[in-house]
Amino acid sequence: MVRLLLYSAQVLAVTVAGVGAQSSKSLAGNTYDYVIVGGGTAGLALATRLSLGLPNTKIIVIEAGASGLHEDGINVPGLKGSTIGGKYDWFFPTIPQKALNDRVVFNPRGKVLGGSSALNLITWDRPAAREIDKWKELGNPGWGWKEMEAAMERAETFVGGPPGSGTNGPVYALYNRQQATFLEAVAPAVSSLHGIPLNSDSIQGNPIGIGFQPTNVNPMSYNRSYSANAYLPKAKSNLVVLTETRVAKVNLKKSGKLQRATGVTLTDGIVITARKEVILSAGSIQSPNLLELSGIGRTDILKAAKIKQLIDLPGVGENYQEHILVSISYQIRDDFITGDRINYNATYREEQWNRRLNNQSSWFDDARFSILFANWKQIIGGSDKNQVALARSALAGSKDVGHKWKLEQLSDPKIPQIEMIFTSRYFGNKGYPPVGSPLRGKGYMAIIAGLMHPIATGSVHIDPANATLGNPIIDPKFLNNEYDIQGLIHALKFARKIFQTEPLKSVVVEEYEPGLDAVKTDADWRNYLLKNMGIIFHPMCTAAMLPKKDGGVVDPKLVVYGTENLRVVDASVIPVQVSAHPQTVVYGIAEKAAEFIIKEAKGKL
Ligand SMILES: Cc1cc2nc3c(=O)[nH]c(=O)nc-3n(C[C@H](O)[C@H](O)[C@H](O)COP(=O)(O)OP(=O)(O)OC[C@H]3O[C@@H](n4cnc5c(N)ncnc54)[C@H](O)[C@@H]3O)c2cc1C
Repeated sequence: MVRLLLYSAQVLAVTVAGVGAQSSKSLAGNTYDYVIVGGGTAGLALATRLSLGLPNTKIIVIEAGASGLHEDGINVPGLKGSTIGGKYDWFFPTIPQKALNDRVVFNPRGKVLGGSSALNLITWDRPAAREIDKWKELGNPGWGWKEMEAAMERAETFVGGPPGSGTNGPVYALYNRQQATFLEAVAPAVSSLHGIPLNSDSIQGNPIGIGFQPTNVNPMSYNRSYSANAYLPKAKSNLVVLTETRVAKVNLKKSGKLQRATGVTLTDGIVITARKEVILSAGSIQSPNLLELSGIGRTDILKAAKIKQLIDLPGVGENYQEHILVSISYQIRDDFITGDRINYNATYREEQWNRRLNNQSSWFDDARFSILFANWKQIIGGSDKNQVALARSALAGSKDVGHKWKLEQLSDPKIPQIEMIFTSRYFGNKGYPPVGSPLRGKGYMAIIAGLMHPIATGSVHIDPANATLGNPIIDPKFLNNEYDIQGLIHALKFARKIFQTEPLKSVVVEEYEPGLDAVKTDADWRNYLLKNMGIIFHPMCTAAMLPKKDGGVVDPKLVVYGTENLRVVDASVIPVQVSAHPQTVVYGIAEKAAEFIIKEAKGKL
């Protein structure tokens, strides 16, 4: 195994030789056909496909972060999450959230080669087919489930996946070889409640039900498989990747009635020129910011930041949507081992690490969680009338197409409204019991409940006081309505019910967080929710692919309205929020974008 790890590292080092080695100064004045801003999930997938499909062009990717290809915290599945808040994370704060008693919520975002695909928690799933078909209905020809499913499958090689999953793509997915035994009790407990089905094939457009979720892990090395180590090594030498270099803005020049992107200016003032296109893949927070810094956006935002408006585009940075979560945790019986043991016990940790080095399954592979996707009736265990009424009243009079869709989909039982993640180790806000407590050293398990289509819709804009380098102003407006609050209270109550259902009931000892005595009434749950609500780290839709009249920022070819050759290709173009961890969708967007950019370049579109 050691040999395997070293070997793969060397291959990567050779294949992406030059990553970070060239200074931006040496590239000053250089001209590329395609300039891609952001070497993250979508950026590297797109760049690699363009490099392969257009071998006679020159492509550059400019990434603000460094390479983390050899970092254990990134590569080792069981260490996922350990990089959050560290040097590879932008870790943007929201503004104080009113409904959360002015609490600030932090947004991890990858600042590293591979972007958020290097930091994420490696859940590999897909939304309901109907949700993607809606993209097409909203004015985006070519963006239905059928086309997106094919694109998502082009990104993956799903080892042991169900028939129909991808077999030839760069990113590996699998059902992880390490599994906590007590998680076997989850599916029988959940499926005995509220008519919830078992689902062992949730990624082909029908996610409703309970099952184990795949993860993006390479079966040879048992390392995270992500854009930097999966796509990039396949690129040809016509692709240059510049790391630790930040783009300040896109340069635009009038061209008839449109603006033409001529290149980008870096934060050190150096200009890199684009012959054909500039493509923003800086993610849902920074792509809209870069548009604003380049003079594209809402009049008042640009005026406040003293930026000359070149294109009036009110949708930029609006429509911000995120999956919000809250969790409860239980102590597990002593005869079961949880992932907590490697945190408490140094000898066990070393033994498990050695198992990994010897290519044996260990807690350092651990990422295999059970996941439930459910509609309201399944969560509530009865009528969803009250939830629907709350949604109607919160959205009364709204003309927003996303809002209308949120209401419409409530009558579709195939579209999940709640996700529940059943973890193999502690998760929560309380933290481990203090040293000296009799509960210290015990094993824990959590249910993390996530709201898939919260009504709260926010925004992300540049800070007028420090537009280029300051933190963006992120205001997701969390829990600004009763639908979102009551929805998560329903989910919390159902989570407790699941823990009290056999066979899971016999696996757990007692509720650790919040504790049966601490939370009894709906008012208690509300209080708990306001103090503990967090996010699943899935901001999207901030440069939405929608008609301009509906608040859209890009057209169905992902070209920014009012420009000739400036595209956005990342999670910000998702038109309406989807009920999945979004990385497969983001890879699918990059694959589709590559397909039509290559066709256009070859004159076939
Ligand atoms: C902690 C965490 C856990 C998650 N867990 C999961 C999960 O388990 N499953 C799942 O499906 N999804 C998960 N996600 C979400 C998923 O990873 C993201 O939605 C997806 O990776 C976003 O891809 P992107 O291409 O839009 O942006 P990113 O991958 O974030 O790429 C943007 C890149 O642009 C760079 N950049 C930004 N501004 C500039 C600039 N001015 N100049 C140069 N470069 C710039 C950034 O450094 C970054 O590398 C998680 C995300 C996080 C952060």
